[in-house]
Amino acid sequence: MFEINGNTKICGLLGYPISHTKSPQLHNKWIRQYNKNGVYIPFQMCHLDKSFFDFLRFNDNILGLNVTIPYKQEVIEFLDDISEEVNYIKAVNTILKKEGKLIGYNTDYKGFVKPLFDLGFKSGNILLIGAGGASYAVYYSLINFLKIEHLFLINRTREKAEILASSFNFGNVSIIDKISQDLLNSCSLIINTTSLGMGKLADKMPFDLFGCENLCFTDKQIVYDLIYNPAETLLLKKAKQDGAKVINGMPMLIEQAKYSFEIWFGVYPDE
Ligand code: NAP
Repeated sequence: MFEINGNTKICGLLGYPISHTKSPQLHNKWIRQYNKNGVYIPFQMCHLDKSFFDFLRFNDNILGLNVTIPYKQEVIEFLDDISEEVNYIKAVNTILKKEGKLIGYNTDYKGFVKPLFDLGFKSGNILLIGAGGASYAVYYSLINFLKIEHLFLINRTREKAEILASSFNFGNVSIIDKISQDLLNSCSLIINTTSLGMGKLADKMPFDLFGCENLCFTDKQIVYDLIYNPAETLLLKKAKQDGAKVINGMPMLIEQAKYSFEIWFGVYPDE
């Protein structure tokens, strides 16, 4: 049970649709666990406008928000300042109100790398599949936290892969149009940031798209799929069968939430 009073700090999730979100359960649990005077609530908005952000600025109880699909990019124009990583990632998933100003952060990039550290991954060739919004946080994380020998980048729309690569000052990158078995064998980490494997695309493997149906993984590789629902995509199923280590999107989802909580309440939930 929450005890809400005049000093209770309000944080929450901004997005649309968010009826399925588990974020309130997670954050409210940590709020209770760490004895914070706060509450986390959903803000489902079908469009963004200035008056909502003025409400956030002028309401003394507002501490900050998480931002999810479809507003991670659009929200930037309504904020007063952004942290350094947002310049590169071009998306905000956490807002902190500080001295009346709304500051945008991105914690996805830290959340992404944590499970790789946990598996002891440090360096090697990497194959990155996809060049949508989430791939920017992944790219930023890879070049800042890991020692990449070479990064191979592939996306359905090649132009978007080119824009992604040109957004970062990292030289050892090649944009490819096909994945050969030799190229795959040379990579120690394979990452899927596309939506292939979830929802209406649950019966698809990212490899199918590039005419590479019969590729095999090895037991020396890590295959990381950002998708968390389903917990095991066809890509991860195949990787597991071939003996590779696998990571789905759930640890990233939980870690990015922990870093948001830390930004608001100054505590990184250790659970
Ligand atoms: P996005 O901006 O819409 O990008 C989608 C990506 O998937 C693009 O590379 C797109 O290629 C590709 N794609 C979509 N439909 C395709 C199709 N039919 N055939 C081939 N390629 C297709 O989405 P996003 O925000 O980057 O999210 C991507 C995935 O990451 C989602 O599954 C999301 O759930 C997951 N995600 C997970 C976390 C986490 O915490 N675990 C965080 C963020 C995102 P084009 O560029 O050619 O369109």
